[in-house]
Amino acid sequence: TATLYVVATPIGNATDITLRALHLLALADVVACEDTRKTGALLTRYGLNKQMLAAHQHNEREAADKLVARLRAGERVALVSDAGTPAVSDPGARIVDAVREAGLRVIPLPGASAAVTALSASGLVNDRFNFVGFLPAKSKQREAALMELAREPATLVIYEAPHRIVDCVEALAAAFEPTRQVVFARELTKLFEEIHRCPLGDALAWVKSDQHRERGEFVVLVEGATVETDAQDAEAERILNILLAECS
Ligand code: SAM
Repeated sequence: TATLYVVATPIGNATDITLRALHLLALADVVACEDTRKTGALLTRYGLNKQMLAAHQHNEREAADKLVARLRAGERVALVSDAGTPAVSDPGARIVDAVREAGLRVIPLPGASAAVTALSASGLVNDRFNFVGFLPAKSKQREAALMELAREPATLVIYEAPHRIVDCVEALAAAFEPTRQVVFARELTKLFEEIHRCPLGDALAWVKSDQHRERGEFVVLVEGATVETDAQDAEAERILNILLAECS
């Protein structure tokens, strides 16, 4: 009791929920969720009739205060988002922060996350990844964000809203080398799941070759930048030393 349980829920296929999550949701006094209709449908599917409290990006602070009060009263609270892991490109972090600040316990229940699901089927061999989440929607800010990432050696993990995939791929193609491998993970765990890997130079043509591709949810993975070799570093240092000698 007096614990906030952070519960991951499915990202498409409703059966991708853990036994522990179902058990915990059954025990919860209240389920804090982004959208009571969406979470209500999931709960109904598993025969659960629970009190829900809306906790979305526009009321997260007020919701956090209410939840802290309920936890102090000894209630068990479950926190979910519409899909996947709460607080990962989703609301939840403010609530978790408020609960921790109040000295109360937070227990995470692991489960689906679009980022990790996409990485697992990508075949990109790199133990490091940089979770970018959503790129800025405005083109100038997006360009700046991609510039900063251009030399990142880790695999980039990008979330994209359904209607912006073409803009996203155009921006990636403008910012990075066309030889970089890209993996599109679309509609994961759903009926029209598609996982496609190609060089970035071919990516726009692939997205545009089927109009259905401009719908649906995407995770876009981009192979990291090739790390400069020691030989290149040594050459750069040699030139730098010549220049420094010239300046002194
Ligand atoms: N918290 C979630 C998680 O842990 O995966 C992410 C929520 S975020 C608001 C939604 C974004 O996640 C989508 O725009 C898409 O980039 C990605 N996403 C969620 N479900 C997906 C799916 N079934 N297939 C591909 N991408 C998905």
